[in-house]
Amino acid sequence: MTRRVDGPSHRGALASGAAYLAASLLPAALLAAPLWSASLLSASLLAAPTTACAQPRPAPSPRKLPAGADITARTLPNGLRVIVWPDHDIPNIALYTWHKVGSRNEHNGITGLSHFFEHMMFLGSKNYPSGEFDRTMEANGGANNAYTTQDVTVYSDWFAKSALELVARMEADRMCCLTFDSTKVRSEREVVTSERRTSVDNNGREFLDESVLATVFEAHPYQIPTIGWPSDIERWTMTDLKDYFRTYYAPNNAVLVVVGDVTPAEVDALAERYFGPIPAQPAPPAVRTIEPPQLGERRVVVRRPAPVPLLEVAFHAGPANGPDAEAEELLDTILTSGESSRLYRRMVDGDRVAVDVDSWLQRGFDPGVYAFYVTVTPERGAAAAESSLVDELGRVARDGVTEAELRKAKTIQLAGYWQSLETIDGKASALGSYETLRGDYRMLFSAPARYEKVTRRMVQEAARRIFTERNRTVGVLLPEVQTSASSKKAKP
Ligand SMILES: [Zn+2]
Repeated sequence: MTRRVDGPSHRGALASGAAYLAASLLPAALLAAPLWSASLLSASLLAAPTTACAQPRPAPSPRKLPAGADITARTLPNGLRVIVWPDHDIPNIALYTWHKVGSRNEHNGITGLSHFFEHMMFLGSKNYPSGEFDRTMEANGGANNAYTTQDVTVYSDWFAKSALELVARMEADRMCCLTFDSTKVRSEREVVTSERRTSVDNNGREFLDESVLATVFEAHPYQIPTIGWPSDIERWTMTDLKDYFRTYYAPNNAVLVVVGDVTPAEVDALAERYFGPIPAQPAPPAVRTIEPPQLGERRVVVRRPAPVPLLEVAFHAGPANGPDAEAEELLDTILTSGESSRLYRRMVDGDRVAVDVDSWLQRGFDPGVYAFYVTVTPERGAAAAESSLVDELGRVARDGVTEAELRKAKTIQLAGYWQSLETIDGKASALGSYETLRGDYRMLFSAPARYEKVTRRMVQEAARRIFTERNRTVGVLLPEVQTSASSKKAKP
């Protein structure tokens, strides 16, 4: 069955919390996990703090690195980047289309547009009316999905080899000639409004996260919630939509990744035939804003009905291609991966101030955020949890990590790396991530060596740089008993 898990989008707040897994994992997992991984999904999620995986997987046996020799990459005259990785193990194909657009490219008035296009792309194009994409895919034994983040919007298709030309034609049709039908736009606006209500407004954690991130970033568009502010969702105009599509869904702003039972020659021929005629557009405007340094702690308090208090503590951290990216990722693994992680042992087992703790280390084009999400033990309160968390982060910055912790973190990362490359889906996701967010898919193949090079000192330096009082934003959600008077007030 073709089933599209609509990716919200939204922040990595949903990232590793097992309680939220069912809803919408794909994007969150992608955000929380290292760059190679979408289908590392299960790996990184099982290693998430709330689930049991305290023991790292056995160390991966040395394997020959896929040197990438049989991968081809070319850029069509219209700017579309096409990357092909033949893998003939099974007669299937994974095709990923990465558009370099997310809420980072939005501004006041059009927030949420990137995510809205994730919906629009299934509402019909010139030769495939609304719903036809899914129906055709399903009739051919395929499946598809899509998600939106702050930085990218990604469409993925999995199908039998026999459907390659059909899928190329359908994907090109919607990149070229999306339908803008005002009735459909109106009804989909309501769908997104309802999605926002469910996933943010009625979700304490997401609601708090939205407030925290709007505080962490005062200037940079990472402050924008990917699903959009409610008033903008209601007011986008048709001109906004058409302009946005023309600019950001142009072939020169996209990367097509095809992995599976194909040859580069056949993919190149299809790409030229179907995508080649789509005209290039002027390059999208660069995101110029650089977030100014934070000069002191910021605090956000949200009072609303909720079963338990929630705490979020967020810091500015580096971008996906920063020089400390691997050290930051290993630091994160040490702190929150599994029940034997630093923070789980300290806050859940030791101080008993938290029921659960997890994190999101954003990996985007620009310096992002590193946030910790704590479900507070109600009888201990948010202040005790905050004090325990801040103390443990300070301890890592002050004393560093042990060799055993670092070794274990590297083992977890490498196990996930190899696992992600076992499937055509994982390969397509990984290639697209590196090509898009790091600018070169080949960096995928040097990732193990980069992790191996990280030393205890590098991890400690990352912690020392990030976990400072002046770089910290603390958000607290305090449960409020909903009286009949306040509930009337809340629903005018
Ligand atoms: Zn959606």
